[in-house]
Amino acid sequence: MSDAVSRAVAGPPPGTPWSDQAPAPEAPGQPQPGAPTPGQPLLPPEQHDSVRLAGVSKTYGTGKEALIDVDLVIPEGDFVFLVGPSGAGKSTLTKLLVRDEKATAGSVAVAGHDLGRMKKKEVPLLRRKIGIVFQDFRLLPRKTVYENVAFALEVTGTSKRLMEPAVERALALVGLTEQARQRPSQLSGGEMQRTAIARAMVHDPRLIIADEPTGNLDPLISWEIIQLLLRINEMGTTVLMATHDAEVVTALRRRVVALEDGRVVRDEVGGYHREY
Ligand code: ADP
Repeated sequence: MSDAVSRAVAGPPPGTPWSDQAPAPEAPGQPQPGAPTPGQPLLPPEQHDSVRLAGVSKTYGTGKEALIDVDLVIPEGDFVFLVGPSGAGKSTLTKLLVRDEKATAGSVAVAGHDLGRMKKKEVPLLRRKIGIVFQDFRLLPRKTVYENVAFALEVTGTSKRLMEPAVERALALVGLTEQARQRPSQLSGGEMQRTAIARAMVHDPRLIIADEPTGNLDPLISWEIIQLLLRINEMGTTVLMATHDAEVVTALRRRVVALEDGRVVRDEVGGYHREY
């Protein structure tokens, strides 16, 4: 993360509601002798890509093979579209990255952390390095814009002194300073998604995973959201965006990873090639 971003958005070390559910507080206790320091990367430095999947398969308990032998490397600072028809495995892939699900075979690493070897109590540390943005925003309806963003820090016990400037920077980044006291019901769809992006950015993540972030928005507002994600990427945060929006993908000529039936069928810079 560049200094510019740190100044623009960053904040204190903190936490991450990458969903509405607050992450569990970290387990207290002393590290075991010989155990890696929490947060210490477990892979050699040359493998510290943002995302590194090697030979990854995921078979659910039902026997469904959602991902089959997936290799994927996303270097720090990349902007990647993840496309594919419904059921192709896009959500499964994002769930593996936040350790919501575990791979059945192969290795998954995020920001140098080998998730297969990660202990359960280290998962909250991983999630602080990832911001996640959903199609349906997942804002807390009774909280204001400010409170929704602050909640991401509150759940990790960040002090008010550190929280306020971090929330203000995140709101400024998405252009919502004026709307800070409004509740989600008083916002447009685009403003709701910008609130969700501020919440994802408030803890200064290394990686943003955006799962169909424009799926509920009209085309003009969708472009605003894409522009915001591009700006965040230019400031140094890696972005992985799952989308069905062929127009956006084609226009931007970024890296496109296409999944079909659990396999990567294309990984190249450029257009969308087919409608999903
Ligand atoms: P996408 O996000 O591309 O629509 P998913 O990753 O949601 O695809 O799903 C990939 C496949 O895995 C689908 O066939 C889906 O039905 C199946 N699947 C997803 N989650 C589960 C689960 N928890 N248990 C069993 N099958 C699942």
